[in-house]
Amino acid sequence: MQSPRIAIIGAGIGGMTAAIALARRGADVTVYEQAAALGWVGQAINLAPNAVRALDGLGLGEAIRRNAWQPSLRLSRDWDSGRITSQVALAEAARERYGAPTLTVHRAELIGALATALPAGHLRLGHRLTDWSETRHALHLHFAHGADIECDALIGADGIHSGVRQSLFGRDAPRYTGMIAWRGVTSAASVRAAHPHIDLAPFTKWWGPTPQIQLVNFLIRGGEELFIFATLPAPEPDRESWSQTGDPEQLRQGLAGFHPEARALLDPLREVFRTALYDREPLPAWTRGRVCLLGDACHAMTPFMAQGAAMGIEDAVTLARCLDGVPTSGIAAALVRYEQSRIARASRVQKTSHENQFLKNPGDADWVYGHDAWTAPLAP
Ligand SMILES: Cc1cc2nc3c(=O)[nH]c(=O)nc-3n(C[C@H](O)[C@H](O)[C@H](O)COP(=O)(O)OP(=O)(O)OC[C@H]3O[C@@H](n4cnc5c(N)ncnc54)[C@H](O)[C@@H]3O)c2cc1C
Repeated sequence: MQSPRIAIIGAGIGGMTAAIALARRGADVTVYEQAAALGWVGQAINLAPNAVRALDGLGLGEAIRRNAWQPSLRLSRDWDSGRITSQVALAEAARERYGAPTLTVHRAELIGALATALPAGHLRLGHRLTDWSETRHALHLHFAHGADIECDALIGADGIHSGVRQSLFGRDAPRYTGMIAWRGVTSAASVRAAHPHIDLAPFTKWWGPTPQIQLVNFLIRGGEELFIFATLPAPEPDRESWSQTGDPEQLRQGLAGFHPEARALLDPLREVFRTALYDREPLPAWTRGRVCLLGDACHAMTPFMAQGAAMGIEDAVTLARCLDGVPTSGIAAALVRYEQSRIARASRVQKTSHENQFLKNPGDADWVYGHDAWTAPLAP
């Protein structure tokens, strides 16, 4: 029996993880990415225990830990008093409780680990999907440079503005959250030298006076660099960008009333990046026939729980489990099984992330961090 030909559109974290998970099970899978090279943008990413455990199961554990930081704690602190309002033990405690720690890594290192793990020949760069059509026997993909490719299953992992999503369910614009996200990296040594009393080891979220104002700090690159993430309100929609720079002074002014320890982290910032934040409402379905969505294409969310990429990684593992050994005639049913196994959890995380209250006060982290995509029951 010839195995089904699976095409994934988009070589982001979701699409790449899905391709690795499928290739590991012997599937005939190819990722088509519009960019001419894989993106090395975006600075840092926080991989929560549920994401790390899913990646560990793909054999990526060593690669993602090589230059990562393992935060000791996840702290919530009041923006002005500095009072700790909730605390979750990470590192060894998370390993014991969830089977994996939280890792904070540079995005380029994560994408690099994924690219290295994907067997040669499974990735086609410079392929922008413009359209697809379906006949009884196959799906036909049409690319901007004129290539036409036939496949048996199509996975849209093409991000928040997914064209595959639009082709399945019609046009709907992402929702502007009314916030600009600011990001910057600085030397951890210089912060430690100037402020030896500040403990940089935890992942710390400073909750601002309104839900639209917050500051997050954590270490990356084995603890050598300090990553700063903050949001400020901006009523007018701005553009999404991983590379648009902003004025560090504007960020400092926006957070001027914060606790001195929080402000001290902002002082050394010389370069910051800004992007408008968009998300979406949960979708009622992710699949139609032999086509389905994965990652931000079906559940784009705010970054406030650090679960956007994590949900795409969980999707990828679940998709590979559902498609394992399935013949071409069983693809549509396997994709429904994938959707039914994932949609309730991803939608709940999407909604909770939008509300932005997760772990502000002591609460249940287990339902998020304790999920094991490798063993979670699949829908019947
Ligand atoms: C500021 C910020 C901070 C974040 N922090 C975290 C965090 O700490 N932890 C976490 O888990 N998540 C975080 N996220 C969320 C996370 O970044 C995203 O959920 C994740 O990167 C989405 O991955 P994806 O593969 O689904 O989509 P994308 O990364 O958007 O990838 C989609 C890919 O599809 C390609 N593509 C699009 N259209 C086509 C086409 N027609 N043909 C071919 N290719 C196409 C694109 O070029 C792109 O490479 C954060 C998000 C933001 C904005």
